[in-house]
Amino acid sequence: MQIRYFDNAATTAVREEVLKEMIPYFGINYGNASAIYRIGREAKRGLDKARLQVANALKVKLHEIYFTSCGSESDNLAIKGVCYAKRNKGNHIITSKIEHHAVLNTCKTLEKQGFRVTYLNVDENGKIDINELINSICEDTILISIMFANNEIGTIEPIEEIGKIAKQHNILFHTDAVQAIGNVKIDAKQLNIDLLSMSGHKFYAPKGVGALYVREGIEFEKLQDGGHQEKDKRAGTENVAEIVGLGKAIELIYQEFDGYNQKLKSLRDYYIEQVENTIPNVKLNGDRVQRLPGNSNFSFIGIDAQELLLKLDEVGICASAGSACSTGDSAPSHVLTAIGLDSKMANSTLRVSFGKTNTKEDVDFLIKTLQELVSNMRK
Ligand code: PLP
Repeated sequence: MQIRYFDNAATTAVREEVLKEMIPYFGINYGNASAIYRIGREAKRGLDKARLQVANALKVKLHEIYFTSCGSESDNLAIKGVCYAKRNKGNHIITSKIEHHAVLNTCKTLEKQGFRVTYLNVDENGKIDINELINSICEDTILISIMFANNEIGTIEPIEEIGKIAKQHNILFHTDAVQAIGNVKIDAKQLNIDLLSMSGHKFYAPKGVGALYVREGIEFEKLQDGGHQEKDKRAGTENVAEIVGLGKAIELIYQEFDGYNQKLKSLRDYYIEQVENTIPNVKLNGDRVQRLPGNSNFSFIGIDAQELLLKLDEVGICASAGSACSTGDSAPSHVLTAIGLDSKMANSTLRVSFGKTNTKEDVDFLIKTLQELVSNMRK
């Protein structure tokens, strides 16, 4: 059976050029990057190149990039790292109600340790309110952490405005850009972003490798004791092959940015238009304009999205329900709840996220399948 993969916001397939670049680091240049002999130096060269590729993508300096194991680790390191380092200056953090759990649960842990967290509301499209942000700032606010773009509904937050406000108030600004990398051009300095998290597997590099940008001069505490890797901020022998893969993947995706962006947007817009015009009782969630190019998120009113997913899987379609949390219980998603959906509506939500390998024919097949399934399930 042909697999039609529409869950690119969950993860992506490693692209061939990336894999090709990685392979020598498993069997030829497999030395420890800290070693002084040739194959160690080759590994170090691979690391340096990847760091430059990531730095170039964000228009930042080489030494401002730290490699990690994933987006979650980058979020933890950024938020806890800064809060622990700035503890004597204040204990207040501002974030939003629709952050990924890598940020929300990090904030929950910090609350248990005596930090105070404000969780900003979002409007019905998932955008934070800039006035609420300004009003939440107090003397002891040390960090604002707002995601660049939401993983469920695709809404892009007003990052430039947030950056300006953070700078005016002399507060550090972290953004979880895990979903934005490759989909939005990011000039970290121009946007006044102080810390930024990313994860390779969202842009065609492997799972298990991430990166964190930290503007030079910002102090943050390491979370893991051990060796002196990553400028003493992230102990552990570097995952050289995967870091090389992440570097290649970010370089390629920004080289191809215009074509890739256009392709995703046209698939997304075609899908949204077809669903709205041919399937009754649907609601598009997320902002129509400030939206990730590959994201669509619909509530199919009256449909159980988990059941719909299983039926889609039977014909080889992979998508995602925006409702159940990862433990498999049926609690509605915190993101959909925050934009005002009741649990019934939230549990009828399907996220379809487009990627490199999707074609218009795939989308036609998906639409036709959805028309039939939704109509039958509603009978
Ligand atoms: N942040 C966002 C917005 C995400 O979408 C994800 C993954 O889905 C993460 C963080 C966590 O990334 P990772 O899976 O690499 O830990």
